[in-house]
Amino acid sequence: MLPCQLNIAIDGPAGAGKSSVARAVAQALGLVYLDTGAMYRAITWKALQMGVPLTDVDALSSLAAATDFHWDSENGILELYMDGKPLPAAIRSAEVTQQVSLVASYEQVRKEMRQKQRALGNGNGVVMDGRDIGTAVMPNAPLKIFLTASLEERAERRLRELGQDLSLLPQMMRSLAERDHKDSSREHSPLSIAEDAIIIDTTGLSLSQVVDLVIGHAKRVCFGEGE
Ligand code: C5P
Repeated sequence: MLPCQLNIAIDGPAGAGKSSVARAVAQALGLVYLDTGAMYRAITWKALQMGVPLTDVDALSSLAAATDFHWDSENGILELYMDGKPLPAAIRSAEVTQQVSLVASYEQVRKEMRQKQRALGNGNGVVMDGRDIGTAVMPNAPLKIFLTASLEERAERRLRELGQDLSLLPQMMRSLAERDHKDSSREHSPLSIAEDAIIIDTTGLSLSQVVDLVIGHAKRVCFGEGE
């Protein structure tokens, strides 16, 4: 393991492979991995469970403020816990996926989440993935990556991940494009590329190729390799 205590921001549209890449890079470099999308999904799931109207910004931001996120280790692996429990599988449900961009569009909610994300990342280096990590959550991160891929490839990867039939490609492309549009056009911290981000188009690349590219950039930042 490399002694490279670095904060790495990974942003990009839905299905660009951020989570898989971020998790693998964190593991290779011995860093913590924080999936901020999972946190927005978890708050959305909790609001739906509690019957909080997703149009009630004040109630949602109070809910976000009152929610505890912390690290716990399950079988030696650090996992994110919400209110004392591992994040439920239902955060990946179609209903949450459909509603999460609305909840994430409110600045009051984002402010609460940003504080929690920074606190969770405090320490010896973190790989954080999301939409506004390089622009808002960790604007001083020494390494910022923006991952992208063609809409078709992102939709294909997402279907494979969910174990669904490739005949659903047109629907998945529509659903990803719709979420990207909501996330890029919102007023507060929209999905955008930080000025100092390295853009990697992962179309046609395998997961390990992308992971190697990011690790190469991390080594360069940490040790000046390849300069
Ligand atoms: O990463 P994932 O696709 O699971 O994120 C779910 C949603 O959470 C995104 O579509 C976006 O609306 C929101 N999100 C965000 N900012 C982040 C991470 C996710 O607005 N940093």
